[in-house]
Amino acid sequence: MTEEQKSPVAAGADAARLATRQPSHSSKFNARIAQALAAFAAKPLAASHQEPQGFRGDGFRQGCSKTLRFDRSLLPSPAIYYVEQLAMRLHGRGLWRDALCPFHKDSSPSLRVNLETGAFRCMACGVHGGDVLAFEMQRTGCDFPTAAKCLNAWRA
Ligand SMILES: [Zn+2]
Repeated sequence: MTEEQKSPVAAGADAARLATRQPSHSSKFNARIAQALAAFAAKPLAASHQEPQGFRGDGFRQGCSKTLRFDRSLLPSPAIYYVEQLAMRLHGRGLWRDALCPFHKDSSPSLRVNLETGAFRCMACGVHGGDVLAFEMQRTGCDFPTAAKCLNAWRA
């Protein structure tokens, strides 16, 4: 019988200990959550991605993104992309032109761009790619779909 008398008391003592311990424990926990939330709220969103100048991608925002696909034929022609959109000065004649490389501090034109395919290669820093989309991805740091959207190469 002493066991039955003792155990409720022991249980009560346990509960009391829990009751006194839990508030301090959970308030510390809550403070940590509040701290984390404050840190998260203070962080500016989408700071890593900056939309390039001349961005004309409003079209893809209006439609359902699931129905949009990459369409290579919608990519701007290399001449329009390099000369008009990026305002690069191309030197020379023929398919391959020279330009100042935007990927390194270039004083004399080291970048070669192909006006037919959009391919590019820098003789100084080695940056290279096969088309204007590859150039856009490296220039902006965007992934493939984002760069394709920036170049308006998505359609339903
Ligand atoms: Zn370069």
